[in-house]
Amino acid sequence: MGRVCGQYVVITPYTWIENACVEFGDRIKAVEPGCSGSECSGVIVSHGLASAHTHLGLYPVRHSVLYGLKLDEWVKTFAWPWERLLLEEPELTYYASLLALNELLGSGVTAVADMHFNEDRVLEAVLKVGVRADLSVAIMSKGVFNSFDEALSENRKLVSRVKGLGRGDIACRFGPCTPRLLKPEEFKAVVEEAVKAGVGIHTHLGEVPEDEGFLVKEYGLRLDEFIRYVGLNEVDALVAHSIWVETALDELLRSERTRLIHLPRSNALLRDGVMPLEVLREALGGVSLGVDVAPTYSIIDEAFFAIGLHCLGRAALTPEDVFNLAVSGYRAMGFGTGNLEEGEVADIVVWKVREGLAGGIVSPQAALIAGLAKPVEVFVGGRQIMSCGEPVAAEDIARAREALRSCGFPARSAGPYGRPS
Ligand SMILES: [Zn+2]
Repeated sequence: MGRVCGQYVVITPYTWIENACVEFGDRIKAVEPGCSGSECSGVIVSHGLASAHTHLGLYPVRHSVLYGLKLDEWVKTFAWPWERLLLEEPELTYYASLLALNELLGSGVTAVADMHFNEDRVLEAVLKVGVRADLSVAIMSKGVFNSFDEALSENRKLVSRVKGLGRGDIACRFGPCTPRLLKPEEFKAVVEEAVKAGVGIHTHLGEVPEDEGFLVKEYGLRLDEFIRYVGLNEVDALVAHSIWVETALDELLRSERTRLIHLPRSNALLRDGVMPLEVLREALGGVSLGVDVAPTYSIIDEAFFAIGLHCLGRAALTPEDVFNLAVSGYRAMGFGTGNLEEGEVADIVVWKVREGLAGGIVSPQAALIAGLAKPVEVFVGGRQIMSCGEPVAAEDIARAREALRSCGFPARSAGPYGRPS
């Protein structure tokens, strides 16, 4: 039986108690008062956080989103050159994922939903670091794959491998990438296959206005018509972005199986736009936060940025609201409620507040979102994956750093945007 104690124990995004301890096996057994003195002083205990939409393999080009390129230009300039190398050397995906997971873990993330290719290598990194994960292959009819069938087949293999593991902490889905990169009938076929396999899907929708413009021009389908045609509401779906979705809001909010993922930094830095959180506010419980590709793979940085991005009117967010967004990925992925309560999975982060902090703490959630604390002990399903601020996979992570340094990308860069030569 494990036991951690803190001066502040965050029970739900909106409630906490002082001087308490959490007892756990693979699930939380009890949260009880009973800690005082130096043992708990300056310690915050919370549920683990989640990034409900990430591309771990793109970690090495994360800071390139700062150049202000629009999405398509960024993809051509930075993502595709790196992805071509990943196709030639899949092991680089493993190393990139190890480093990305390590940085996410350093911001208290214990669960990620990832969508990319080489997902078998992502899975290895996930197992090495020990976080919970929900994996899918980015299925397209062109792009990095030779054909739709090749992409679908890779996702099928992933689903059968993950099912074969039989682990509660590793889930999988099908990943029809985005309406602009596969035909509506292909998207529909993927949804049908997901339903048949008893898994969900993970997709991008309404990231840029061109998404709906393309559907209307090529297929005469508005977004709401597309959603109905492919059967998106008939399946558990992680739907990333949802910015340009005005015509489809009713459809998106109608299904409790649709979970919208908000990616504030990538949306702002790639000039996509701003998710209409004021419209989705009532459905906030159904919105989760993700890192996507951002300059840091830190959910705390993402949450902090979200407060700045939604500073006006009904969309304005408190630290408790963004903490809610940061744990609600657990609900989106079906891993739990994200609350630190009896019976929930024992995904627990013990944070140490920075020493010498002047003044008191307004709320533990605000202290965490302000970046005033760092994880020192982390547990997933009761298993310790960080101890004394060091991940248990520290040696593998150091090797990954060296492997990526010597692969020559993207350091060999030149050109107007530091474009890889
Ligand atoms: Zn994405």
